[in-house]
Amino acid sequence: MTVLTKNLKKQLTKRFGARVKFDEPMAQHTSWKVGGPADALVFAADVLEVADLIEILSAADTEWFVMGGGTNLLVKDSGIRAVVICLQQGLDHIEITERNDDGVLVEAGAGARLNSLCRYAAMQDLAGMQFAVGIPGSVGGAVLMNAGTGQKSMESVLKEIDVLNSSGNIISLGTDRLNFKYRALSWENSMGRACHGASVVIAARLLLVPAHGKDLEAQYEAILARRGKTQPRGLSAGCVFKNPSSEMPAGRLIQEAGLKGMEIGGARISEIHANFIITGHKAKASDILKLMEAVRQKVRQRFDVVLEPEVKIVGE
Ligand SMILES: Cc1cc2nc3c(=O)[nH]c(=O)nc-3n(C[C@H](O)[C@H](O)[C@H](O)COP(=O)(O)OP(=O)(O)OC[C@H]3O[C@@H](n4cnc5c(N)ncnc54)[C@H](O)[C@@H]3O)c2cc1C
Repeated sequence: MTVLTKNLKKQLTKRFGARVKFDEPMAQHTSWKVGGPADALVFAADVLEVADLIEILSAADTEWFVMGGGTNLLVKDSGIRAVVICLQQGLDHIEITERNDDGVLVEAGAGARLNSLCRYAAMQDLAGMQFAVGIPGSVGGAVLMNAGTGQKSMESVLKEIDVLNSSGNIISLGTDRLNFKYRALSWENSMGRACHGASVVIAARLLLVPAHGKDLEAQYEAILARRGKTQPRGLSAGCVFKNPSSEMPAGRLIQEAGLKGMEIGGARISEIHANFIITGHKAKASDILKLMEAVRQKVRQRFDVVLEPEVKIVGE
């Protein structure tokens, strides 16, 4: 049940019109196509809107959560008791901001698609984004997740991000203030505390290097072909668990535990890549959660290794 007051609903409708949806089923906005309703989902078109929204929500003492493409999110079946800020329909500029001896700085809005950024780079004859080709979702999501592959991640190109904090201020953070980890990024706030929960990434600046666009396109095609062969096509959120180490990928542990093809309700462990859970049209978030728990138990029993989720689990 929604916790939003009538007054807050009125305010949000007045400010965002048709771009605010109340009791919005999150299944329509996540790549797994599961998840109950968010109290409200707001599609913010620009920084000013995000700032206004956060101000309104802070004044109303209402919680919020920011999402990009929903390609790494598991929203539970009872939904999210907060306002979800979605950046997938705005903040999507991509442009060259500087050329220097080190290379070319490209700025991308957090709502831009990561794959659009890869295409833009190739069109501008710029290398560096090859690792990201085929990773769905937004630039903001990729920054927050330090998305990538076994070889490289966003850390390899990211130079600076702009963040809107809960006080409505935009701060630019260079790599000296960013703490990259495997599939995670955090930074220190002005109080010296590690944070990102109460901040919205609004733009990223990446350092790319000159190359031949045609060569890059050929590399992209090869990478996509490899992804096509090694990853399933069904509804998923990519790899469900983090790899305990590069020598011990989670997929191999799950496969060797004999779990490929295991099903609970509408969720199934992929036959093609054991670290992917694929959902059918009747799947529930609880099916995925039960399957994840079963996998964790079996892998722990068999290998004495505890798998940690890579996907972000939200809601109730
Ligand atoms: C088929 C498939 C293949 C995939 N392959 C890969 C892969 O090879 N490598 C890989 O790393 N991932 C992969 N993924 C997972 C996923 O695509 C990435 O993690 C992606 O970067 C998530 O981006 P998103 O915009 O969808 O983020 P979301 O799923 O919307 O959000 C993910 C997290 O980021 C936060 N967030 C999103 N935007 C912002 C913002 N602007 N400011 C602050 N916080 C924000 C959210 O709160 C959440 O915690 C794959 C997923 C699928 C479905």
